[in-house]
Amino acid sequence: MPVTLVWFRTDLRVHDNTALFHASQRGPVIAVFLHAQEQWREHGHGDNKLDFIARGVEALGESLAQRNIPLIQLDTPSFKEAPEALMRLAEELGADALYFNREYPLDEWQRDQAVLEAGDNSDLEVRAFRDAVAFSPGELLTGKGDYYGVFTPFSKAWHKAISSERLEVLDAPAKQSPVEVSATARQRTRYDDKAVDGRRWPAGEEAAADRLSAFLSGSISSPGKRYKEDRDFPAKRGTSELSPYLAMGMISWRQCMQAVISINDGSLSDGDKGLTTWVSELIWREFYQHVAVGFPRVCRYRAFQRHTEALEWRDADDDFAAWCEGRTGYPLVDAAMRQLVSTGWMHNRLRMVTAMFLTKHLLIDWRRGERFFLEHLVDGEFAANNGGWQWAASTGTDAAPYFRIFNPTTQSERFDPDGNFIAHWLPELADLPARQRHAPSSDLLSSNDYPRPIVEHKAARERALEAFKSLSKDD
Ligand code: FAD
Repeated sequence: MPVTLVWFRTDLRVHDNTALFHASQRGPVIAVFLHAQEQWREHGHGDNKLDFIARGVEALGESLAQRNIPLIQLDTPSFKEAPEALMRLAEELGADALYFNREYPLDEWQRDQAVLEAGDNSDLEVRAFRDAVAFSPGELLTGKGDYYGVFTPFSKAWHKAISSERLEVLDAPAKQSPVEVSATARQRTRYDDKAVDGRRWPAGEEAAADRLSAFLSGSISSPGKRYKEDRDFPAKRGTSELSPYLAMGMISWRQCMQAVISINDGSLSDGDKGLTTWVSELIWREFYQHVAVGFPRVCRYRAFQRHTEALEWRDADDDFAAWCEGRTGYPLVDAAMRQLVSTGWMHNRLRMVTAMFLTKHLLIDWRRGERFFLEHLVDGEFAANNGGWQWAASTGTDAAPYFRIFNPTTQSERFDPDGNFIAHWLPELADLPARQRHAPSSDLLSSNDYPRPIVEHKAARERALEAFKSLSKDD
């Protein structure tokens, strides 16, 4: 009986897993996960994410064991080692096929190509599946045959081309006859004590499914149908908080879409505005995956908009440290940075506010912020993070026009009107009247350690405008 080796990566689930489904149709399956610690660290991921991965692999191992599918875990510190490690393992196990789901950022893509090539030079059948996205990059192109560099037309094309086949959720494999393997399970690595609180982010597909239904029903947050109204208010928990699970594939985008279809009269594009707006966010996720393939320079620390490469960013290490540590003197920015560092997650509105503050008010290179986010985020994901940072810095796709610079105080008054989010993360401001929390005056702060603003909004704005104006589009 042929054995298929399934290589798990950012698809840590047994339900609706394309590679696993097809492998299980052939016969017995053995699963493998490669821990590429050095490579992940080099990519900027920190303890929160690595701990979440380790817990996710543990949960996956349990689900697989219930189906008699053994999970082998190997330490292959860098991606370079993957082809040889997999070929050797396949030979040891007598596997005749290796299946996996595609990943799209450049290093992952190149690693996978190397594995496919190694397969070509052996008797092993190596197959890569489309799973993380509805359309493989290259399937949705503009009328001129280019990759989309703007979201709205991409989204329209996505809605036009989506079909029930692409949305089909695949079954988990049935329990197979026991397979003997000599390789031993690996203990999960524990990261530093500060690693993300497992109670806040329980790992695994069961936790992800619970989170999805809680979001749609509104049992822990605003219900999905209120998403459009509530999603911009960080004190409200108006979003799904599914990003860590989507980033590690503990839930599939298809499962999310099907859940919407089931409560929205079968539609992804019409009907309830809350749900269709949420669908649109899932399409943003796919859009950035396509951008990573269509414009690989973004995977090489380069700006999407080439002319912005000439921008003269400030080094300003002290300002950068103040931003990282939540000491800018702008309460919403500081509260958001403390949320990130304490929980490994930050609300989307605040990702935009803090990223814009760093790149515009402090005129510090978006790449430094991008890296800092990845070091802390439990949902750190290259394509979305890079896309978000380049948007905020006005160097990317759909970039915020450089002259539209968020005023952090106005953002605070609009999106945290009662100052509750600020009071939660900055207890030193909690005693101030709500209206004073957005920009506390000096006399209110006289007996308080909270810092004065490190830059003045108008002057900082002018400085950013000057820097951007001096760029020539011909660069
Ligand atoms: P919801 O609002 O419930 O959205 C559902 C899902 O859609 C999310 O879980 C996510 O998978 C996807 N999504 C939502 N918004 C976006 C978006 N703008 N771009 C791409 N996908 C999106 N998202 C990450 O998953 N990882 C990151 O590393 C990341 N870094 C970001 C950095 C910056 C500077 C910015 C502005 C945005 C970043 N985002 C990132 C996108 C977005 O902020 C998060 O996906 C969102 O806050 C996650 O919360 P949620 O799961 O409650 O999202």
